[in-house]
Amino acid sequence: HARRENLPVVQYSAAMAEQASSRLAMVRQLRQAHERGEFELHFQPIHRLHDGSVAAVEALLRWRQADGSYISPAQFIPLCEESGLIVPIGAWVLEEAARVHARLVEIGCGDVAIAVNVSAVQFEADMNPGAIRRLFERHALPPHALHLELTESVLLRHPDDARVLMRTLRDEGLCLSIDDFGTGFSSMAYLRELPLDHLKIDRAFVRDVTGDARSAAICRALIALGHGLGLAIIAEGVEEAAQLEWLRAHGCDQAQGYHLGRPMPIDALLARLAGGPVP
Ligand code: C2E
Ligand code: CA
Ligand code: CA
Ligand code: CA
Repeated sequence: HARRENLPVVQYSAAMAEQASSRLAMVRQLRQAHERGEFELHFQPIHRLHDGSVAAVEALLRWRQADGSYISPAQFIPLCEESGLIVPIGAWVLEEAARVHARLVEIGCGDVAIAVNVSAVQFEADMNPGAIRRLFERHALPPHALHLELTESVLLRHPDDARVLMRTLRDEGLCLSIDDFGTGFSSMAYLRELPLDHLKIDRAFVRDVTGDARSAAICRALIALGHGLGLAIIAEGVEEAAQLEWLRAHGCDQAQGYHLGRPMPIDALLARLAGGPVP
């Protein structure tokens, strides 16, 4: 008995101490990366399905390494959220997105909106109408040009506060999207209550939409549900022409994915929007 109880405890604490110190080191690196300006935004176009035009671009965070390669946010966002670093980083993302929109205006693409991901931690700690209004003013950013992508986790901790804040932000004129819909603790109750503009179908459902009857049933249901609530539906992770055709045929409004365009640096985005080829 003693052996069974003691041994694992010793092993766990050693492993945990090691993990904790490497996490601390990683948080230190992330803070430095932020201070040194090693974060960048890449942009992925979101196309309207009825005419192929670009409705918005999603800003996606990248950590640029010394060798020019990039680290994906999936690898560091969770740690940024736990450590609270996501608050200053998220504030920088909003500023940068607003600066980029000014460049879209310069090339005559001011009607293309910028969609920004906002973590639950950042939403609670740092989002307020005053700050958003100042952001709009500083950059002469028209409110409807900013879309905030929120996940269901925003609503878990303080649903009433979140709802009030969402209403206030939306009164300021910006658009709200519910991201990764269907993958978390989806609840019809909050869909009914929340002021939303877009529902994004997670790529987990889009991936098998042409081959798997269940995925197709879920996508059909999400499109009908969203439309019933007056929301525009955006499908994520479209990698094949057949998926795009299925979505178009079933009334999905907009789509993004590698088939339409990978996330790209600002210069590539500007070149692409200026050229304006329609897939
Ligand atoms: P997300 O918001 O669901 O973003 C979509 C992810 O899918 C992006 O991954 C994008 O590069 C990827 N993607 C787009 N099209 C395709 C496709 O056709 N196939 C596949 N397999 N993947 C596709 P990425 O850029 O690695 O971002 C991962 C997650 O990190 C995002 O998921 C978002 O939750 C988070 N994130 C990214 N930027 C930010 C940010 O500025 N702030 C916050 N809080 N979170 C961010
Ligand atoms: Ca997103
Ligand atoms: Ca998503
Ligand atoms: Ca996702």
